[in-house]
Amino acid sequence: MVDLSVFETLESEVRSYCRDWPTVFNRASGSRMWDTDGVAYVDFFAGAGALNYGHNFPALTDALVEYLRDDGIIHSLDMSTVAKERFLQVFDEKILRPRGLNYKVQFPGPTGTNSVEAALKLARKVKGREQIVSFTNAFHGMTLGSLAVTGNAMKRRGAGVPLSHTTSLPYCNFLEEGSSIGLLEALLSDGGSGLDQPAAVIVETVQGEGGINVASWNWLRRLSELCAENDILLIVDDVQMGCGRTGTFFSFERAGIQPDIVCLSKSISGFGLPMALTLMKPELDVWNPGEHNGTFRGNNAAFVTAAVTLDQFWSDNSFEGEIEEKGSLVSRSLASIAGRHPDLGVDTRGRGMAVGLVFDDPRLSSAVCKEAFSSGLLVESAGPAGEVVKLMPALTIDNDDLLEGLTILANCVDRVAEFESAHPMMRAK
Ligand code: PMP
Repeated sequence: MVDLSVFETLESEVRSYCRDWPTVFNRASGSRMWDTDGVAYVDFFAGAGALNYGHNFPALTDALVEYLRDDGIIHSLDMSTVAKERFLQVFDEKILRPRGLNYKVQFPGPTGTNSVEAALKLARKVKGREQIVSFTNAFHGMTLGSLAVTGNAMKRRGAGVPLSHTTSLPYCNFLEEGSSIGLLEALLSDGGSGLDQPAAVIVETVQGEGGINVASWNWLRRLSELCAENDILLIVDDVQMGCGRTGTFFSFERAGIQPDIVCLSKSISGFGLPMALTLMKPELDVWNPGEHNGTFRGNNAAFVTAAVTLDQFWSDNSFEGEIEEKGSLVSRSLASIAGRHPDLGVDTRGRGMAVGLVFDDPRLSSAVCKEAFSSGLLVESAGPAGEVVKLMPALTIDNDDLLEGLTILANCVDRVAEFESAHPMMRAK
């Protein structure tokens, strides 16, 4: 039996994931985690998108250990270091140039919300306007600027101060297909709409925390066009859906758009080390030196693993093919689970390796996640009521682990369905 008393006594009530997975984790490798009792778990959570290449990918561990052994520099604020130089060169060579993208790279603080704060601040400075348009069910982070463009009411209440200078509009499919983009267009074109001219629109191409809501390519293209027509900057928050999660390095590539600003974090280090980037078109780089700074902007250990990751996985497009294959296996498997349980009110949606099993009744998704943990599978729920079982396995997961996790999940849904049919009254509560 694991002993959780030190966490329950000393750690703040704010802790959350550990409540869903009440054990003490000890080791991890690839798509497996083990607790102190030696129980193995298949990891379909992957650090909420921070572990796209799994745990402790050997080439990354080796590079990091070698760097540490050689007395490589760990902390350097934004000084120029060999590790940063190498990362910038590889990022340009493997990611930006092959995609015809021309961005300057800002290193904000090391987390996703740091990248979003930098993006919002920069957009407001460039345009000299306050207003930012965001979307329903968006998630952009927990600091005040990011929270102001986040949809979730519970998270917003935590701010304790008014969250202002932002307008939330319907995301693709929040209303009827296509109508939300028409609404934005109407608001922008009518001087009586009451919408102050925005500096920027911030969007996720697939909303991860919001419940795997997928924006269509067409909707994203129209959004990009509307921004350009109205002198508004387009910020794509690729913190969770970037680094290959949806099938391409950047999640917006197949829409054929080039956002003005891009936020990246989570899996950019490849190893789960804190690191974030804010990419901006060169003409937007109007920062004065030091105008936006911070102590932890140069995580050299992360630069080392990031450079190896880009080299290893993104030198050609074979990895994209692998993601597509695995993603369609996951989607097919979820569709078959949903098809077996027509009475359960369950559907699927997703893009690439970000896939959701969507329940009408959030109690069921919660029961499935709980059952999954008891059966050795880590999956989390997402969406405004937690109604989506969200699958984000490592992109490098091998077929055995993937199939094992999917089988566990299918069995869990079967057991929840059995329980439901035996206790029909429970569902109405
Ligand atoms: N943007 C998106 C799209 C995210 O999913 C997240 C984290 N879930 C963030 C921003 C915030 O990142 P962090 O938790 O590292 O601050």
